[in-house]
Amino acid sequence: MKNIVIFGAPGAGKGTQSDYIVERYGLTHISTGDLLRKEIADQTELGKRIKSIMDAGQLVSDDIVIEMIDNAIGRDTKGILFDGFPRNVAQAEVLDQLLAKHGRTLTCMVRLDVPREELIRRMLERAKTSGRSDDNEETIKHRLVEYENKTLPVAAYYNKQGKELKINGLGDIKRISEDIAHAIDSI
Ligand code: AMP
Repeated sequence: MKNIVIFGAPGAGKGTQSDYIVERYGLTHISTGDLLRKEIADQTELGKRIKSIMDAGQLVSDDIVIEMIDNAIGRDTKGILFDGFPRNVAQAEVLDQLLAKHGRTLTCMVRLDVPREELIRRMLERAKTSGRSDDNEETIKHRLVEYENKTLPVAAYYNKQGKELKINGLGDIKRISEDIAHAIDSI
């Protein structure tokens, strides 16, 4: 059973490549961003609390996403692709503990590398159709700062464990998918 983290800056193509990985390896796709947006759309108590944080491009508190991930691992039987989680080193440490609690380990982390200018270009393009309130120039800048300050150290965390698979996220979508499959299959 594979348990994989897909990692990269906002706009790196995590969503697109997640679809491919989930299909190829028969995994359950868990996107914390999607789960949080659903809370907002459903106007739950949690949704009301997190909307302004997400609209500002900041990370919501660890407790909230960790509970979601714990529940997801508990329910799953196939293996999970974690998308948008972990977003900081504390979350990465908790993920290792939660997987261990359920008798699992992380197979690998797939890291999509895309230059900053291209990330901004893609997100502004996506903003035209996404309907996401955090896809505007101001919030995009905040999201990238959060990524650089808090999320990027997660890559070093997995690198130290020998689990980081670096993929060039620039270019043809199909080529990127093939590079990912090749890297995962070579483990
Ligand atoms: P995403 O869809 O992954 O780009 O996430 C959108 C927003 O949801 C982020 O800017 C954060 O506000 C929030 N979010 C998603 N995943 C996490 C996480 N693991 N930890 C904290 N906040 C998160």
